[in-house]
Amino acid sequence: MEDFFEDKIQSVRNDFPILSRSIYGKPLVYFDNAATTQKPNLVIDAISNYYRNDNANVHRGVHYLSQHATGAFEDVRKKVAAFVNASSPNEIIFTRGATEAINLVAWSYCETFLEAGDEIIVSALDHHSNIVPWQMACERKGAFLKVIPVSEEGELNLEVLETLLNSRTKMLAISHISNTLGTINPIAEIVVMAHSKNIPVFVDGAQGLSHGPVDVQKIDCDFYAFSAHKMYGPMGIGGLYGKTSWLEKMQPYQLGGEMIDKVTFAKTTFNEIPYKFEAGTPNVADVMGFGAAIDYLNSLGWDFITRQEQDLLHYATEKLSGIEGVKIYGTSKHKAAIVSFAIEGIHFFDAGTILDHLGIAVRTGNHCTQPLMEVFGISGTLRASMAFYNTRQEVDRLIAGIYSVKSLFA
Ligand code: PMP
Repeated sequence: MEDFFEDKIQSVRNDFPILSRSIYGKPLVYFDNAATTQKPNLVIDAISNYYRNDNANVHRGVHYLSQHATGAFEDVRKKVAAFVNASSPNEIIFTRGATEAINLVAWSYCETFLEAGDEIIVSALDHHSNIVPWQMACERKGAFLKVIPVSEEGELNLEVLETLLNSRTKMLAISHISNTLGTINPIAEIVVMAHSKNIPVFVDGAQGLSHGPVDVQKIDCDFYAFSAHKMYGPMGIGGLYGKTSWLEKMQPYQLGGEMIDKVTFAKTTFNEIPYKFEAGTPNVADVMGFGAAIDYLNSLGWDFITRQEQDLLHYATEKLSGIEGVKIYGTSKHKAAIVSFAIEGIHFFDAGTILDHLGIAVRTGNHCTQPLMEVFGISGTLRASMAFYNTRQEVDRLIAGIYSVKSLFA
């Protein structure tokens, strides 16, 4: 059994300087990609190049550097729009990441459209970032939060969803891919269900954009949130796709800076979209890094990425299933390369700590999905989340590590 594209993977790994470092004297195995992915040289260089050569505030200057920075900043907006197939770059708003994008809509949309007695639907497998902002909006407005249940396999119960959608529902907010279980939700199908009752759909795409192509027009979702740092780009930058018709009607989230049109003490008017939602000086350097990350992903191509990740997912699932006492949580047929598991009789923190000392980085805990942990009646799991730069040999190291953990506790 060999990695699909052995030569290509080796050359791809060379693009990521951190992958060649050691942890406690052992070569790093980085299986925490759902928390954040590593960064290729192209991204690191784009950020440092911006500060070395191009740094200036955008949108406000007549001087060369400001104009140059503004052009480069807006070029990345176009690149992001093309990456998700938005119908216009004006439908892309830069935010600090997915969490800020969700908060933006949960505030701006709900301030404009949510009323007492209305309902918002989320699911039992959502990340806290796609639960709490909606929950707080409901509290502010006297509305109700409804929850789509998940099955033992980690799939959404669409029959229950059908019964939840009604004339009081003002938003269906759902994750594209579960960060804990890896389940890929059938979002296009869900959008059809919601739209048949004129209900808009917000997609938390924090895990969605790194594992496969996303076409927001094809999905026909109303909003799609993402974080660059989970797409091999920098931390502190990400964005929101929103349909023009919604963005134009929503009130701004934060105030000041480029989002202003005209200020008098009697009245203030706001800039057009997308600027209406981008208050203050933006994170220009990391936007440059984000643009480089998209170039990088485009250069690799989805065929390579999805084939390698699916191969690792199946290989890891098969190997983990073969270990006595290991239970995998999330067994949907449609999964990204994320495997959550428990080792019978051994606390996930203990197992994670021992694996760490073997140079293997996995995540332990509830993965910001406490309601999902409640569904399974557990307090946490170990989670191995893999990327295209990981290898079967690294999965073998994880498996050997788990045997070491088991023998230490035997
Ligand atoms: N939603 C999901 C499904 C996630 O996995 C994450 C990050 N773990 C978030 C939202 C929040 O993303 P960020 O921390 O980048 O804002």
